[in-house]
Amino acid sequence: MKLLVVGSVAFDAIETPFGKTDKILGGAATYIGITSSILGVKSGIVSVVGGDFPQEHLDMFTDREVNIEGIEIVKEGKTFFWSGKYHNDLNTRDTLATEVNVLENFDPKIPDSMQDAEILLLGNLHPGVQLSVLEKMNNRPKLVILDTMNFWMDCAWDILMDMIAKTDVITINDEEARQLSGEYSLVKAAKKIHAMGPEYVIIKKGEHGALLFHDGKVFAIPALPLEDVFDPTGAGDTFAGGFAAYLAKKGKIDFDTMKSALIVGSAMASFTVEKFGTQRIEEVNESDMFSRLRQFKELTTFDIELQ
Ligand code: AMP
Repeated sequence: MKLLVVGSVAFDAIETPFGKTDKILGGAATYIGITSSILGVKSGIVSVVGGDFPQEHLDMFTDREVNIEGIEIVKEGKTFFWSGKYHNDLNTRDTLATEVNVLENFDPKIPDSMQDAEILLLGNLHPGVQLSVLEKMNNRPKLVILDTMNFWMDCAWDILMDMIAKTDVITINDEEARQLSGEYSLVKAAKKIHAMGPEYVIIKKGEHGALLFHDGKVFAIPALPLEDVFDPTGAGDTFAGGFAAYLAKKGKIDFDTMKSALIVGSAMASFTVEKFGTQRIEEVNESDMFSRLRQFKELTTFDIELQ
């Protein structure tokens, strides 16, 4: 299956307890595109950058066979810029700057070559932009996956609700699930979110893994315990990218395939956090992925006598 990704392609400046970076390559769609290419899945990105965006980054996508016909370049504009600083626990961060720049008037255009995508992954963007992408598809994709965040709950609630109603799979973190549903219990939160539209609800719990809810069932996975977490930026996007790309690779959309997809997402995210920005995930190949999946299997498999 083909995967269409809509999201930011950006510059990030990141500060963690271990150091800081100047402007480096970032953006949700960037992490998702790189991750899909590691799985060998045909993906295409719809996004916008400014004239300041280096050709070498665009070439990186092309070298990975990520279709970038849908990345518009606004020559006189500046690329979206985000800057964040992580606290010592690395679970919380402060946003230091968000310069929306060319994303402000982003009018996504879907290239003909991606109109037949069966899976659509809507990365974290204004829900109005996410909705417009869905409306511009000639046929509704088989699966619509939505990533969103608390910011849009605060400032674009109604349109976010319209978007969620048209979503098959939503991925959000635990705090966002609580804010969206008004429920503290994640089980109750998932029930309320199902009622808003999505058949599948994925709640991410950072270093504690993720939960998948569907049709009265729940599946839980841990995150791989890592000795050193260097920079969590992009972990959520890499997770969503691994999840969506695995479904695209298998060509199957059901609860059991999604369980494995969740593991792949979590394994891929465990690479991203090991170095700044996209540095680590850009080094990863298919065999690295398989060895980490083996580690996951060892971490989660056990025998137990039930009598
Ligand atoms: P994550 O760490 O998974 O939340 O994603 C971090 C990435 O999201 C960074 O590379 C940023 O460039 C990008 N990002 C941050 N804020 C926004 C926003 N408001 N809209 C789109 N992308 C964003």
